[in-house]
Amino acid sequence: MKKRLKIDLPEFIEIGDNKLKNLFKILLFHRLKFKKVLLFGDSKTFLLGGETIASIFKKEKIKIFKHLISNSDEENVKNIKNFIKEEKPDLVIGFGGGKVLDVAKLAAGKCKTKFISIPTILSNDGIASPVSVIKDKNNIPISHITKAPHGVIVDINIIKKAPIRHIRAGVGDLISNLSAVFDARLAQSKGIEKIEPAALTLAEAGPISLLEFQNRSIKNNDFLLCLAHGLIKSGFAMCIVGSSRPASGSEHKISHSLDYLYSPRKTLHGEQVGIGTIFTMALQGNEYLNKVKKLYAQIAFPQNLKHLDITEDEFIEVIYNVKNIRPERYTILEDKKLTPKAIKKIIRKVKL
Ligand SMILES: [Zn+2]
Repeated sequence: MKKRLKIDLPEFIEIGDNKLKNLFKILLFHRLKFKKVLLFGDSKTFLLGGETIASIFKKEKIKIFKHLISNSDEENVKNIKNFIKEEKPDLVIGFGGGKVLDVAKLAAGKCKTKFISIPTILSNDGIASPVSVIKDKNNIPISHITKAPHGVIVDINIIKKAPIRHIRAGVGDLISNLSAVFDARLAQSKGIEKIEPAALTLAEAGPISLLEFQNRSIKNNDFLLCLAHGLIKSGFAMCIVGSSRPASGSEHKISHSLDYLYSPRKTLHGEQVGIGTIFTMALQGNEYLNKVKKLYAQIAFPQNLKHLDITEDEFIEVIYNVKNIRPERYTILEDKKLTPKAIKKIIRKVKL
């Protein structure tokens, strides 16, 4: 008999309009019991809806403590972890973007406290994943595996208020799965790694839906729903394998290499992996490349090295430095050992 995998998945997902207003009911519906809640956000998200969340709990006579997270570094994770240990809440809620969710998720995971993820932007696939990206002492983002959020609540009314650039970045992070899944299957075909096929199918389902989407107005409700569902499926795929593998391949290596060589950066993670995807897809001969370029053009997604603020020669450096990033993860970049001339040829071909 096939051994059943023990998968750490979120217990519930709620996506739609006015979810914040109904937060208390949603938590009760999912049988959560709590007397004391810690709410993490930042100065912007507290104005956007954090105060509303606090007032909902106060009205129900539940103790709620608000706390600001300013940066997603090791120091902040340590402070938040100590804070959770001292206060001993039954529930931790993260209300914010990547920084807030990553710190709160990792700290709550370390304290074995239930964590509810309420994103205010959809800029990456960390909203439902077991991965937290935290900056180390040298300001380099490092991925940590932790417990998946207990619940994920996406309020489309809140997401609509996010800067359009963050939504675009979310598209880039989701689309990058197509490159990552190709790499995972390549590693599997070479007998180097075995990756759950269901996780790979789940990881590519979101971006394929997005490519087939007819109305590509980025703030259109249906587009945002499609993006949210895709990012959550991506998180689930990572939960199944217990690593970022289904959503992170050669294109993420390029982005990490860029962070390593040329930090601090002004570009968002989703923009970096989204641009990296154009390069890796060309290298892979990936069947989705043309559709991806068309989607990028329609939503004004940045498509060149200029946006990354690096020259062609610096990009070649980035590609050569990839060998220092997760060497155990086999991708198209390890498969094709590129010469500077070959790299330049691809840059020209895809007009990077
Ligand atoms: Zn990513």
